[in-house]
Amino acid sequence: MIAARPGQLGSTRACPHCKATILESAVVCPGCRHHLRFGGNADSLVAQTPQVAWQIEGTLQPEGGARDAEYCIVIVVHDEKNQEIARQVVNVGALKGHQQRRFTLSVETSDPAATVPPRQR
Ligand SMILES: [Zn+2]
Repeated sequence: MIAARPGQLGSTRACPHCKATILESAVVCPGCRHHLRFGGNADSLVAQTPQVAWQIEGTLQPEGGARDAEYCIVIVVHDEKNQEIARQVVNVGALKGHQQRRFTLSVETSDPAATVPPRQR
């Protein structure tokens, strides 16, 4: 994956709170949901609110009722040529008895035209 240069479409930075890699244009970290102070004003906050383009929810429950099971949740992203560009293990764990995990996967998009470049110093 080729990283975009700062100020370009798709450029990234580290969230100062959770250290996740996020879009440079993000006003709110999608991971920890902290508001990020730099690079925006009240109008741009509204304009840069991401839209949920796609979302799926599911519940993981071991087959056979009360049997124990281990699980691994993996997200894989492919480009238009079906080449893998990202693979991330999001969570692993175990389910005992009738325990279950509910998961939600969402893809958010935002309008690049609404992106406010970082302040020049
Ligand atoms: Zn964060």
